[in-house]
Amino acid sequence: MTGQNPVEIDTSKPHPARMYDWYLGGKDNYPVDEAMGRQMLELEPRVPVMARVNRAFMHRATTWLAREGIRQFLDIGTGIPTEPNLHQVAQRIAPESRVVYCDNDPIVLAHAAALLRGTDEGATEYLQADVRDPDTILAGARKILDFERPIALSLIALLHFVPDEDGAHELVARLVSALPSGSYLVVSHATADFTPEESREATDKMKSAGVTLALRSREEFARFFTGLELVDPGIEVPHRWHPELGDPVPGQDDGVIPGYGAVGRKP
Ligand code: SAH
Repeated sequence: MTGQNPVEIDTSKPHPARMYDWYLGGKDNYPVDEAMGRQMLELEPRVPVMARVNRAFMHRATTWLAREGIRQFLDIGTGIPTEPNLHQVAQRIAPESRVVYCDNDPIVLAHAAALLRGTDEGATEYLQADVRDPDTILAGARKILDFERPIALSLIALLHFVPDEDGAHELVARLVSALPSGSYLVVSHATADFTPEESREATDKMKSAGVTLALRSREEFARFFTGLELVDPGIEVPHRWHPELGDPVPGQDDGVIPGYGAVGRKP
C-alpha cells in the first residue's frame, strides 16, 4: 500500500466516497455527508437504488470480463470497500486475478485493508493517487500488473467528478494508451439526459458544498471510448447492460436510472 501518511479526514464538507457509502447504508460517513445525501434524496428519491444499480453494474461487468479471460484489473475511484468488491468478484471466478485499486480520498485509504484481503494465488494492491495524475497511477500499477497482457481499466462512477477543465477525456485516453491490445475500458457515469431539471439542481447544490459534478450526455460519454470497440450491447443505462449476469437490485424496476454504462475493447 502506498501513501501511508497519517490519514486526515476532512469532515467540514461532503465527500463523494462518503455520500456514496451513506446511500449504500454504510457507516463510513459523517453528518455533512448525510446532510447533503438527504438533499439529493429530496431531488431524486431513487439515489440509493441508483447507487446499488451502479454497484451491480460493476459486479456484472467484472463477471463478464473474468469469463472472457481477463485476469488483471486496474480500478480507479474505487470507493469505500463494499462487499463484494471487484477483486472478490474476479477472484471468485479466477483466484489468480491481480487487482490494483486506486482512489484519492483519504477515507478510502483508511479502509483499504478490506481491499487487500484477496486470494493467495492472486494479488490485490491499493494506491493512494488522483486520476488526474495518470503517470503516478501507471507507475504504481506496473509493479503489480503485467502491461504486456490485457488489463481491464475500470472507472466506475468516477468521471462525473472530473470536469472537462481537468481534461477528463484526455486522462482516459492517456490511461488507455498505456494498455496493451485486448485490454478493456469499463465506465459508468451519471447523466442529465433523462432528468435535466433535477440534475441541474443537484449540480448546483453539490457545487455550493464544494463538490463539482460533471454530468455528461450520451455523446460525451461515448467519446471516452474513442478508438475502442464497444462490447455488446454498447452504451446502455447500467441495469440493462447484461442483466442476465446478476440478480436484480431490490427496488429496481426498469425506470429511470440517469446514467450510462459501457465496456470497450482495445483492438
Ligand atoms: N467505483 C465505486 C465508487 C464510486 S464513488 C463504485 O462505483 O461503487 C466515486 C469515487 O471516486 C469516490 O471514492 C471518490 O473518492 C473517487 N474520486 C473522486 N475524484 C477522484 C479523483 N480525482 N481521483 C481518484 N479518485 C477520485
